[in-house]
Amino acid sequence: MPYRAVLFDLFDTLVRFDRDRLPTTEIGGRVVRTTARHLHDVLREHAPTVTLEALYAALQESWREAERLRGVDHREVTALARFAHLLRCCGLDPGDVPAALVSRMLDAHRRELSKAAEFPAHHGPLLTDLARGHRLAVVSNFDYTPTARGLLETAGVMDLFTAVVVSDEVGWRKPALPIFETALRRVGVRPEEALFVGDRADIDVVGAQRAGMHAVWINPERAPLPPGLDPPEFEIRDLDELRGILPT
Ligand SMILES: [Mg+2]
Repeated sequence: MPYRAVLFDLFDTLVRFDRDRLPTTEIGGRVVRTTARHLHDVLREHAPTVTLEALYAALQESWREAERLRGVDHREVTALARFAHLLRCCGLDPGDVPAALVSRMLDAHRRELSKAAEFPAHHGPLLTDLARGHRLAVVSNFDYTPTARGLLETAGVMDLFTAVVVSDEVGWRKPALPIFETALRRVGVRPEEALFVGDRADIDVVGAQRAGMHAVWINPERAPLPPGLDPPEFEIRDLDELRGILPT
């Protein structure tokens, strides 16, 4: 059966994320890549005694805790929840911190992360061609929906997607089923009518297959399939190879 829809992972599938493009900051005599200084510039208006070093440690701790919780059952920890934990780690009561200030911190974080993301030029024409004969959607594990949408808007491809489904709003992360089911429902196709494209065999391929879809694994480094996983229906090194799988 020809595919009617193509669902894409976002990071390292549609956009490349390069940690080396995050801002640098000196913390305790060490140069690190982090958004901590930008967050600190905002937070110190409210809490001038919180040092950059303390905020950096809190940011790291809030990330570790969010990853721990996500690992338990694939429930997403939203950026808002993570930042509340960050504020507690700084010795602050999140309830005392003005919501507008927290939202400016989230914004600063989003802005700096977005600068580290790159949309490869050849992905635009590919998506435009695919959109002529297929419904397109994005299904992303990410804790802040505005960042995901902003990247697609900046790339000028937002209008090509029928749905943009982010774990932040669904509450579940891939490979859990609900985020795939939400995407299929919003796109309006059955699983067997959809092809899922992603770079993580253990998250994208496994989840999509469990949801009843065929999967394309983007594997630029030709890494071996992690043990115990069923092979994807297709394996490619670059997104443009979708032209050989789907009519464009
Ligand atoms: Mg990815």
